[in-house]
Amino acid sequence: MPSPSPSPSPSTVAVGRAPGRVNLIGEHTDYNGGLCLPFAVDLATTATVRRRDDDRLVMRSREAPAGDEQWTAYVVGVVAELRRLGWDVPGLDVDVTSTVPLGGGLSSSAALECAVATAVAGLLGQALDGATRREVAEACRRAETEHVGAPTGGMDQLAAMLGADGHALLVDFADRDRPQVTPVPLPVSRDGLALLVTDTGVRHVLADGDGGYAQRRRECAAGHPRRLRHVTRENERVRAAVEAIDARAWPRLGDLMTASHGSLRDDYEVSVDRLDVVVDAAIGAGALGSRMTGGGFGGCTITLVAEKRLGVVRDAVDAAYRARDWAAPGHHVVQPGRGAEVLSAVE
Ligand code: ADP
Ligand code: MG
Repeated sequence: MPSPSPSPSPSTVAVGRAPGRVNLIGEHTDYNGGLCLPFAVDLATTATVRRRDDDRLVMRSREAPAGDEQWTAYVVGVVAELRRLGWDVPGLDVDVTSTVPLGGGLSSSAALECAVATAVAGLLGQALDGATRREVAEACRRAETEHVGAPTGGMDQLAAMLGADGHALLVDFADRDRPQVTPVPLPVSRDGLALLVTDTGVRHVLADGDGGYAQRRRECAAGHPRRLRHVTRENERVRAAVEAIDARAWPRLGDLMTASHGSLRDDYEVSVDRLDVVVDAAIGAGALGSRMTGGGFGGCTITLVAEKRLGVVRDAVDAAYRARDWAAPGHHVVQPGRGAEVLSAVE
């Protein structure tokens, strides 16, 4: 497991770190009882929690947009849900800092929730074994759904809490209350390939309860055939993707990713121009596969590309943006990394 064992006795200050995630394939399936294949990345949120003498929560974030108070609901929600688990959480000073882009589709929200929860675990001397990590992930999902009002499906929090170096996680939500999580080795760099995240620069707000995300959930619940066709086929693609990874059949994995994007664009209708332009430019420049990742309506793409074509693909995407007078996109090469950990806990 990734974390050093937290100190057995309660501390006065503790630091927790939780990663953002990329979903390789399997989008909008978690809340539909389906399959997804996320992995934790090396962009992460760090939370420092300090015990207070009173029962207040005092929160600061370097990244919180000026004038935005809504972000504190994530922290308040996590503390409330941990207390519901029976954790004896005191009043806290909470300081947050992050390298995960906010609203960029790499799940800064789950990284924030899980960083705070992990720091609190360190503060209380609560060991983070596998079962506790799942409980924490679920508590964080409830915090986002019930306290913030963003009805997320649970993939993001599981990836942040259970991520493992060099692995993606196959998550099966058939049993919503007990999602099954299977680590899948993802040895792309061993075969000369890279995973490239491209940030379109377009931001979404999932906490907007009437936004497209909540609407898609309602459409699925109401049996909208085209939305459900995406979900059924996407689940089949996830199964096929795991087989392709096991066989190290990388062009096949790439084709499945690109097909997933087409389905999210045409059947699920959650893509936007800039996502489509990045995907098309990347494929045109020889990437094996490319798709939007995360809920859509902006955010990032994930592209599977031979390491030696990385520069060509990046240049092609940048050129496509320039041709449309759009501000340059951001690129990050990512590796599947470890899940949340207690960085320090001091008495
Ligand atoms: P994503 O999870 O894809 O980044 P969301 O809309 O789910 O997008 O979550 C983004 C929101 O989470 C932000 O608008 C903000 O309220 C909150 N948030 C995430 N990380 C931080 C942070 N480091 N500091 C303050 N707020 C944050
Ligand atoms: Mg989010």
